[in-house]
Amino acid sequence: MVVSNPNLTNPLKANDFNSDVFPTWCPGCGDFAIWGALKNAFVELKLPPHRIVLVFGIGCSGNFASFIKGNVFHSLHGRALPAAVGAKLANHELDVIVIGGDGDGYAEGLNHTIQTMRSNINLTYIVHDNHVYSLTTGQTSPTSLKGFKTKSTPDGAFEYELNPLGMAVTAGTTFIARGFAGDIPHLTQLMVSGIKHKGFSFIDVMQPCPTFNPELSYDWYRQRVYKLEDKNYKPDNRFRAWEISQEPLPEKIATGILYQEQRPTLEEHYPQLAAGPLVKRDLNKIDISALLESFK
Ligand code: SF4
Ligand code: MG
Repeated sequence: MVVSNPNLTNPLKANDFNSDVFPTWCPGCGDFAIWGALKNAFVELKLPPHRIVLVFGIGCSGNFASFIKGNVFHSLHGRALPAAVGAKLANHELDVIVIGGDGDGYAEGLNHTIQTMRSNINLTYIVHDNHVYSLTTGQTSPTSLKGFKTKSTPDGAFEYELNPLGMAVTAGTTFIARGFAGDIPHLTQLMVSGIKHKGFSFIDVMQPCPTFNPELSYDWYRQRVYKLEDKNYKPDNRFRAWEISQEPLPEKIATGILYQEQRPTLEEHYPQLAAGPLVKRDLNKIDISALLESFK
C-alpha cells in the first residue's frame, strides 16, 4: 500500500505510530515492549494509522490509548470487545486490534471474551497479562498465581488460576498464541500472524510488572519460557493445543502459535454483513418497510 498521508514516512517507520504523549508506564514495565512490538507489526504489514482501529480496555494497558496513533477508542472496563465488534461490523475493511489486561478481559469482560472467541469475528485481541491489577495499585487478578499476596489477598490468593489459553481452546478460538514481553522480535511475529489471520486472533502476552508483581520478573520468565516452534510443534491439533495449555505456569511457559485453523468468520457467515461494509452502502436505498410492518 502506498502511504499518502504527508505526515507519514514512506516506507512506514515505527515512530509514525507515536502519539504526542510519551508513555507514562513505570521503568521496566513490559507494556513498553508490547507497544514496540505492535508498532513493528504495523510497519511489517504496511498498515498506516488511518487503516487501523485500536480499542482499549481499562488498566495500565488501557493507557496505551494515549501513546499510539490510529483510530483509537478507550472503552469502559471489560467492554473493549463489544465496542470493537461494532467497529468491525460497521466497516470490515479496517484492521481492528483490541488491547486489554488480565483483569479487564478475564474478570470484568470475561463473558465478552468467551463469546467473541466463539463468534470468530475477524479481530485481533492482545492481552497484557501481568497476573495482577496494576492500575489500581496491586490486587489479585484471575491469572494471579495461587498464594499471591496483594492488598486484596493479604493471606495469599486461594482461588485456582484462570487458564486463558485453555479457555481459548475450548471456546473455539481459531488463532491462539502466547508471547513474552522480554522477546520483542518473537512477539512482533506473533502479532503479524495474528493480524493476518482471518478470524478471531487471541494473543496472551506474559508481561512483567516490576511495581506490583516483582516476583514474576524478566528473569523469572526467562527460566520458564520456551518456543513451541523450537520443538517442531505444529499448531493444527486442538487436542494437542489443549494439552500444552495445561502445562503448569509456574514451571513451563510455552510461547508461539498454539493453534490455528480457518473457519468462516462472523461477517462472512451472515449475507447482510458479507454484502460489504455498512459505511459504504447507501442506507437510503435499503427498504425496511417489511421490517417495520412486522412490528405493527
Ligand atoms: Fe507497568 Fe505495573 Fe507500572 Fe502498570 S504498575 S505501568 S503494569 S509496571
Ligand atoms: Mg493486569
